[in-house]
Amino acid sequence: MSGAARIEENATCLGCGCACDDIAVVIDGGRITEARNACALGVRWFGDGSLPGAVLGGRTAAIEDALGEIATMLRAARAPLVYLAPDLTSEAQRAAIAVADQLRAFLDSFTSSTAGEGILAAQRRGRASATLGEIRNRADVIVFWAVDPAASYPRFQTRYAPIPVGIHLPNGRKDRTVIAVDVGGQRGPDDADVRIQMTAEEEPLFLASLRASLAGRTVGDAPIVARVTELATRLNRAKYAVIVTDAESPPPVPNGRADALIALSQSLNATTRGSLCTLRAGGNRNGADTTLTWQTGFPMAVDFSRGVPRYQPEDATLPRLARGAIDAALVVGAASAIPENVVKALGGVRTAVIGPRASEGAISASIRIDTGVAGIHESGIAFRLDDLPLPLRALLPTPRDTASLLKALGTAIAAQGARA
Ligand code: SF4
Repeated sequence: MSGAARIEENATCLGCGCACDDIAVVIDGGRITEARNACALGVRWFGDGSLPGAVLGGRTAAIEDALGEIATMLRAARAPLVYLAPDLTSEAQRAAIAVADQLRAFLDSFTSSTAGEGILAAQRRGRASATLGEIRNRADVIVFWAVDPAASYPRFQTRYAPIPVGIHLPNGRKDRTVIAVDVGGQRGPDDADVRIQMTAEEEPLFLASLRASLAGRTVGDAPIVARVTELATRLNRAKYAVIVTDAESPPPVPNGRADALIALSQSLNATTRGSLCTLRAGGNRNGADTTLTWQTGFPMAVDFSRGVPRYQPEDATLPRLARGAIDAALVVGAASAIPENVVKALGGVRTAVIGPRASEGAISASIRIDTGVAGIHESGIAFRLDDLPLPLRALLPTPRDTASLLKALGTAIAAQGARA
């Protein structure tokens, strides 16, 4: 570390939804040289902080020209799409939503094609949820349902559960029972105290049988009932049980799992206390859902074409793109993190990208403007996977601020008049 180096304490990592806010970032010579406390995934997310700062595709390299051309393209479209990608502050998400409203566009985010099933299940059934702090301080039985956080949420177990001590668990890991539920190839943690295995085909009946068992009834044949009884007994003996599941499971999404786990966590509260913890990936994904809900009433798939927000989750980005119902798109955020099927579906649509590394062309677009990454180059708010808001601090200068740029785009659209 040179004499000119500085350390930014308590920076927030958005490498996954855990949003660890205890990272000490060492900056030397305008580059990140270390991210202390971060896991390997977090270190990769911070990188060295370098970013391109280009404006590509406009008549000139002037930002005003590029914004004017994006405004013209979107205004001329019959059915424009505004799509939120990861790595945006909630302030930038809000500014993008305002642009979609102004354009009477279809507004969506990565959530509809990654974690939409869980959102819809929660809207049907409600949620027995908890903050990560409550889980750390109270959960004495932790069920990892078809997920091992070590791969995609590496510090979950050391920061939240089962390893840390909590107010009601003074001996940390020793006070807790960890149960791994393996569903087909989706395995729980290797070091679990108890392991219960089932095939993907058995899972729906197992979950129904487990709920019945918690209510004192028996459903299913003998091999299932034996495993169900073991798990139900441990859950009923818990002072506080948490079921941890991954909302970002790769497709195909297990049919009915999200609904069944919500119902299970709710029924736990008839005999003991319990909650469902839904893991989300990084880049402020919960922030997109929260900010959309705050601004429009809905967490994803919002249609502004009639001048008021309408919820269209059954007709989100992918089906609209597939039948040619979108003729121009504005992608805001890190295009490299957009699901592959969305990138492919955007192939034939005139697209502009505003976001970090837009100029590197993760998706094909006629206009690209580089901005900064939320939490590395841009300050604001992001939401942890339990919907807790956390402040983000800019550690390095941004090529240009995303929220300010989107507001300038709104001004450029307004200057060209209402859409035909
Ligand atoms: S667990 Fe997630 S948020 Fe925490 S340091 Fe690792 S990648 Fe970053």
